[in-house]
Amino acid sequence: MKINIAQPIIGEAEQEAVMEVLKSGYIVQGPVTAEFEERFAEFHGAKHAIGVNNGTSALIAAMMAHDIGVGDEVIIPGFSFFATASCVLSTGATPVFTDIDPETYNMSPESAESVITENTKAIMPVHLYGQIADMSAYEALCEKHGLILLEDAAQAHAATSGGKFAGSWGTASFSFYATKNITTGEGGMILTNDDAVNEKLRMIRNQGMSTQYYHEVVGYNLRLTNMASAIGLKQLDSLQAWTDARIANAAYYDETLREYTTPKVVPGNVHVYHQYTLRVPQGANRDKIMETIQEQGIGARVYYPAPIYAQPIFQKMGYDNISLPETERACAEIFSIPVHPALTDEEREYIVDKLNAALELA
Ligand SMILES: *Cc1c(COP(=O)(O)O)cnc(C)c1O
Repeated sequence: MKINIAQPIIGEAEQEAVMEVLKSGYIVQGPVTAEFEERFAEFHGAKHAIGVNNGTSALIAAMMAHDIGVGDEVIIPGFSFFATASCVLSTGATPVFTDIDPETYNMSPESAESVITENTKAIMPVHLYGQIADMSAYEALCEKHGLILLEDAAQAHAATSGGKFAGSWGTASFSFYATKNITTGEGGMILTNDDAVNEKLRMIRNQGMSTQYYHEVVGYNLRLTNMASAIGLKQLDSLQAWTDARIANAAYYDETLREYTTPKVVPGNVHVYHQYTLRVPQGANRDKIMETIQEQGIGARVYYPAPIYAQPIFQKMGYDNISLPETERACAEIFSIPVHPALTDEEREYIVDKLNAALELA
């Protein structure tokens, strides 16, 4: 057995769509990208979608579009992928780290409120592992303090809360990296319902141009190619079915895994299980369990083994006096197992057998 933690599914439809773009000769950003944007926006009930070359670019562009920069503080969780924080630094702004809810692993609104200062400009929760963060709490906080609400939705394609998709609350950044719920190889998308933000984002991703060779703002080359968009359109056709398969795999694990703390889904949320993340029982040796099942061919991984602020770059920048207890406990106690839609029934059973057995040893 060899079961990967992630498994991009690239079928004939994707291959044919890319060939069509190649044959057309129009391979850079163009009409296929526009169609992908339109369909992605439609799927998520958003007014505007802006395609970019990856999820990190999406985050940076979103911050730039909201004029976040030097002197501004942006509140983010300490428990996420590094890009959640590095994009804040890229704009010259200061990341302010907050703790998580120990049951959902999403940023804690109480923790976020406790670090608001007069310099706070924005709050950016992450929809970690594919579950929407507590957006009504963040919406209220932003309203009360006059803050911008952003969403790191890199792991939350098709996820909902109260029937609303990511991008319904703030400017939301998605990723189409190969391990994400749908992929374009590399790629990203920003959703917004704000016309002005949409216009600015379109300039930022294309050299700051509003019309050809007329540069209104400083922008970059963050364009998403027709080739990538052709893949994205076909992936989007499968997004709901793949999401359903992830949810079915998760339900199987919920029922069959013993003793591990399985993911908590907040009532009213549809968790899309970008990752299915377990917490080991009190006193169990997480690393030993991981090692045992990895030796048996199961691609288990820790997302994330260290808080972002513990990374060398942040330690050097003076973040060495922070301690967020639930973030640090999660880093030591959690791990993720394969939940992707390519998983077979046999593989699922194998994973559960080995996981339950590994607990006896650890
Ligand atoms: C993947 C990811 C990103 C970055 O997306 P890329 O496409 O890899 O640049 C940002 N934030 C989170 C939470 C992610 O999972």
